[in-house]
Amino acid sequence: MIKKEILFFKEINKTMIPEVGGKGANLGEMSNHKFPIPYGFVVTSYAYEKNAIDCKILKKIEELEKNVDVNNMKELNKKSEELKKLIMGSKISSELQTKITTAYDKLGKNVLVAVRSSATAEDLPGASFAGQQDTFLNVQGKDKLLEYVKRCWASLFNPRAIFYRHKQGFNIEQVKLAVVVQQQIGSEISGIMFTANPTTSNVSEIVVEAVYGLGEAIVSGSVTPDTFIIDKKTMKIKTRAISKQTWKLIRDMKGTTKKETVATNIQSKQKVSDAIVLQYAKIGAAIEKHYKCPQDIEWAIEKNKLYIVQARPITTLNAENKQTSTGSSITAKAILSGLGASSGIKSGPVTIVHNLKELDKVKTGDVMVTKMTTPDMVPQMKKAIAIVTDEGGITCHAAIVSRELGIPAVVGTETATKVLKDKEIITVDANNGKVYKGQVIHKDNVVEMHKELNLKSFDFVTSTKVKVNLAFSDAAQRAADTHPDGIGLMRAEHILTAAKEHPYYMIKKGKSKELQTLLETELEKIMKLFKNKPVYYRTFDARTDEYRNIKGGEFEPKEDNPMLGWHGIRRDLDEPEMLKTQFRAIRSLIKKGYTNIGVMVPFTQNVKEYIETKKIAEFVGLRPHKDCFFGIMVETPGCSLTIEEYIDAKIDFVSFGTNDLTQLTLGLDRNNDKIQKWFTELHPAILKQIAHVISYCKPVGVRTSICGQAGSNPIMVKELVKMGIDSISANIDAVEKIRETVYNTEKEMILDAVKKQTLLKKAKF
Ligand code: PEP
Ligand code: MG
Repeated sequence: MIKKEILFFKEINKTMIPEVGGKGANLGEMSNHKFPIPYGFVVTSYAYEKNAIDCKILKKIEELEKNVDVNNMKELNKKSEELKKLIMGSKISSELQTKITTAYDKLGKNVLVAVRSSATAEDLPGASFAGQQDTFLNVQGKDKLLEYVKRCWASLFNPRAIFYRHKQGFNIEQVKLAVVVQQQIGSEISGIMFTANPTTSNVSEIVVEAVYGLGEAIVSGSVTPDTFIIDKKTMKIKTRAISKQTWKLIRDMKGTTKKETVATNIQSKQKVSDAIVLQYAKIGAAIEKHYKCPQDIEWAIEKNKLYIVQARPITTLNAENKQTSTGSSITAKAILSGLGASSGIKSGPVTIVHNLKELDKVKTGDVMVTKMTTPDMVPQMKKAIAIVTDEGGITCHAAIVSRELGIPAVVGTETATKVLKDKEIITVDANNGKVYKGQVIHKDNVVEMHKELNLKSFDFVTSTKVKVNLAFSDAAQRAADTHPDGIGLMRAEHILTAAKEHPYYMIKKGKSKELQTLLETELEKIMKLFKNKPVYYRTFDARTDEYRNIKGGEFEPKEDNPMLGWHGIRRDLDEPEMLKTQFRAIRSLIKKGYTNIGVMVPFTQNVKEYIETKKIAEFVGLRPHKDCFFGIMVETPGCSLTIEEYIDAKIDFVSFGTNDLTQLTLGLDRNNDKIQKWFTELHPAILKQIAHVISYCKPVGVRTSICGQAGSNPIMVKELVKMGIDSISANIDAVEKIRETVYNTEKEMILDAVKKQTLLKKAKF
């Protein structure tokens, strides 16, 4: 063990995890081999320990951590706070301060840096782990740097980390924290590079993808990058597909990710020159050679300088599946742009539905175009080959239903019903939120074809369960075919559209028995396909405007803000017959032997609602927690921030409804297409609420899941798996991709933990 407080990247190699942590060791290795890594240094684990000894807090830290009762949530949080305060209140010795700030000066005058935790040991596999300590971006100035180094140290005492160390019998004396301080890259243009073609598994090709702004936009699939395929032998570009990019992701000074419009004059231009593409390809090939296996590399350009931000092995190459790519670039000009709400590309004749009377116009194979879909349009949506709407965001009705039905949909185009004409042939490219005149060939069409040809079910085993969201019984087979670990969200209001009459109207007309039978019949069709797997039924949660056109819907009250209005559990508690009808149907199914059901209470903001709901269940003979699982959707800040009260009232599980949680936390109407660019579940305010809820639920055995749209986003899912969520529920079309994300994230975490465990055994502190 090298006893130095500061080690520059040039002094570090991959074996030095005990000194500089996993992240530090990898960055040092790459930097030392002359790969263009943003330069930096590491405040070593030795510095952390020495400073704690000098400040006389090391013993106190060890004592506090050892004596905490981790099964007592309040005490755990209190001790975590105490430990963090101890670190934040301690002074970095002036000697170490000088060493850190002198090193900082060597990176440049007052430069922006990323300050990243790099632990020498993290928790064991199956617990909560690598990446759990904090990282801070865009840090500037010596005082700030010193503060953030301490903040990284303090993050070693997040409640979850303490909890798992205890549960896994891991001793705090074995765990030290190094801090990486690295030049911050502005990422004006960034991208991904695969040193083997991940689509075709062709190892003689390098694929480079480029976007304006942060590369996260590529990973999430929300922006189509320029794609270049390079022949590895000749180092010549074989094909290039240039895509228009109207917005990009940027990171502001606080480190928050934001969307920003791309200047119109460069939106359609090639983002990086051929020369730069080839320069990167050469670097990629060299990294592959160094690590002796194909690499998945993240890169970025700032002020015309090329950087490699990350490199890791490609995990998804399929040796039996070698093909050559035949991508051809798009030549047509988009006539409409919106949000790609349900992926896929399809061409067909337009049928515009201006009002419900025109619904019958829609024939099988048409592209259905309408202002905004409503539940009574679902039968026609099922016939359509693609859907285009004027209004709506990524979680609107059209989006949810089309994802479920597996139909490409572009929502929020603003003018589709005006611009398009009946019977004209268009191509709906929902991967990119675009609509083209005629039938066009896009490179993604080719990729789509490959996907169809190669589709096979995964046999990945993951510790985090991967479930599916479902709305209609006739999509149940498609959902089951994805081999999920159950249904994480069964949206009652969609099932009940089978009645073709407004459910509240039926209740008012005394038809609750009829409604109960219908619900039972529809649910039974689903339950039969999901025997022995949990099915989480969410009680009725339609907004008052959603069902207005269905028979009896005209009696629904008019509200200015239905999204914030009379829906979810608040409505059903005002009109409890609806709740009783649903609970009777569930009770009856349980009696028939379908015991794998859970009841999920939507849109609650006050624990009293939940307590009242349980009383109504008891009243009709359905015993929460005994006959079935009983729990809540966490989709209002009112709920997430008082989670301990729900835990006290007994919940078996929670499921994050991030569509509403985002809408309510960020103050963004889910259905308003003008503001969708701001709608992101990756906002720190959402992540913090999720982490907060998990930290309360985990220790007391309350299961945690997500069923909002963010559960189908790989970037979000990676974060959630690292936070220790128990399951993810994704849309039918995303299950496979999400299972792969979960698998890879867990694998990364396990390898990291095992590697550190082994090294720890060797290391003598
Ligand atoms: C959510 O809000 O994330 C959710 C899953 O519920 P819905 O989209 O039905 O409001
Ligand atoms: Mg919701």
